Amino acid sequence: MTQEICSHLQALGEIKQAKERVCEDCVKVGGRWVHLRTCQTCGGTRCCDDSPSQHASKHAHSSGHPVIASAEPGERWLYCYPDESFVEY
Ligand SMILES: [Zn+2]
Ligand SMILES: [Zn+2]
Ligand SMILES: [Zn+2]
Repeated sequence: MTQEICSHLQALGEIKQAKERVCEDCVKVGGRWVHLRTCQTCGGTRCCDDSPSQHASKHAHSSGHPVIASAEPGERWLYCYPDESFVEY
């Protein structure tokens, strides 16, 4: 099985880890989240698509920042929104 790794994922250097284990948009509005994802362009941490506000997806689409990493302990993967490319590291 070959895995398609897009140019965004190939271009990544060191993986940005979450600075704080909160969704920075949820904390502003008192929202709740399920899982956390960290943007690999700006380093911002936001909530996943299982969360009510889906801030990580909204951020990716509004900012054009393509790649997130899971910010959950024990999860080591990256996802590129425009290419729907997923890779574990
Ligand atoms: Zn990509
Ligand atoms: Zn959120
Ligand atoms: Zn970003």
